[in-house]
Amino acid sequence: MVDSSKPAHSRIGEEIEAPCGRCRMDRIHRIVAQDPDGSIKKIICGMCNSYRSYRQPKAQSETGTKVAKVRSSSSRSTTTAAEDFGLPSRNYNMRENYDVGEVIGHSTFGVGKVLSIKDMNKIEVKFSDGIKVLLQNK
Ligand SMILES: [Zn+2]
Repeated sequence: MVDSSKPAHSRIGEEIEAPCGRCRMDRIHRIVAQDPDGSIKKIICGMCNSYRSYRQPKAQSETGTKVAKVRSSSSRSTTTAAEDFGLPSRNYNMRENYDVGEVIGHSTFGVGKVLSIKDMNKIEVKFSDGIKVLLQNK
C-alpha cells in the first residue's frame, strides 16, 4: 500500500478560519504545516499572506465583551444626561409610582434615574444637575 506512511488525515491545503494578527480579525487561513498527530501547526493568512503558528481557538475569548461600560462618575453639569442613563422608560408624573433604578424623563430636569424610594409619596431622582426629591403616588 502506498499511503501507509502518510498521516491519517492530511489537512494541508485546507482552509480554516483563524484570527490574523496582522489583519486584526478572523481570516480564512490555508493550512501549510501539520503535526504527525494531525494537529495543525502552521497556517497562512489568505488575505495578507502572513504565516503564523496555529493555536487552538479558546472557548469564546473576551474579544467583543469589552464595552465601554464604566463611565467615570465625573460630575459634568451639562444637560447631556440622556447619554448616561439611556432613554427614559416613561415621563415623570406625580400620580404614578416608581421603582429604584428606573429612568424617567422630567419636563424641567431632563432625564433622571430613581435612586431610592423615600417613602410612599417621595422618590429621590438623580438628574444631571443634582439629586431631586420628586413626588409620587399623589
Ligand atoms: Zn492577515
